[in-house]
Order: sequence, then structure tokens, then C-alpha cells
Amino acid sequence: MEDCIFCRIGKREIESMVVYEDREVIAFRDINPQAPVHILVIPKKHVAGVNDLGTEDQTLAGRLILVAQKVARQEGIARNGYRLVINSGEDAGQAVHHLHLHLLGGRKMKWPPG
Ligand code: 5GP
Ligand code: ZN
Repeated sequence: MEDCIFCRIGKREIESMVVYEDREVIAFRDINPQAPVHILVIPKKHVAGVNDLGTEDQTLAGRLILVAQKVARQEGIARNGYRLVINSGEDAGQAVHHLHLHLLGGRKMKWPPG
């Protein structure tokens, strides 16, 4: 997916503020943060969204949450709490069609979400 912005961030072709990286996953600060800590955790492999995950992605999908856990600790928000969000499809407002998990924290969150 040459024109996918998150694929390009994963390949470091587009600059971003990377807070974690390994062979399969990269986490970077959201360009338009909605909380004091707002980080996106993505697979380097192109997966358009939750609907496009297959059974072969089971480990990868789980790893996104474990990376979010690690980054939450790193950012100092693990104790007070944080929210993990995956927007999926139009009704949820998914704007970038490369799977990404939002890690939001550093402030009190409201429920239900808008
Ligand atoms: P979605 O609405 O698809 O769940 O969220 C997409 C997120 O990606 C938004 O929060 C938006 O601010 C962020 N975003 C879009 N383009 C870029 C970019 O080029 N760099 C970074 N760091 N974040 C981006
Ligand atoms: Zn992509």
C-alpha cells in the first residue's frame, strides 16, 4: 500500500514522533492529540481495519494491546488509567484505513463517548 500514510510512517518514509518500535509494530504520537497523551499503535503490515483482521493476525492483534500497555507505563499513565480505542468503519469515524489503536490518557475521560 504505497499511498497509505500509516504504512509510510511504519517504513519511516514520513516523519512522526515514534515512542516504540519493533519488527511488527510501531507507536507514534497522534498529530492532532485529543488528550495530553495520545498515541497510535499500528501493525507495520497493512491491515485496513478490524473487519480485515484474519485468524492469522491473532498474535499481531494481541500484540497491539500489549504494546499499548508498555507505552502507557512508559508515559506514566498506567496507574491513573487510560483508554484504548479502535474506530472501525464510517459510523465510528475511522478516517485512516490502516488499523490503529488509540492510546489516550493524562486526563479524565467521559463515558459514553460521543
Ligand atoms: P481515526 O479517526 O481513523 O481513528 O484516527 C486517525 C488518527 O490519525 C487521527 O487521530 C489523526 O489525528 C491521526 N493522523 C492522521 N494523519 C496523521 C499523520 O500523518 N501523522 C500522525 N502522527 N497522526 C495522524
Ligand atoms: Zn497501510
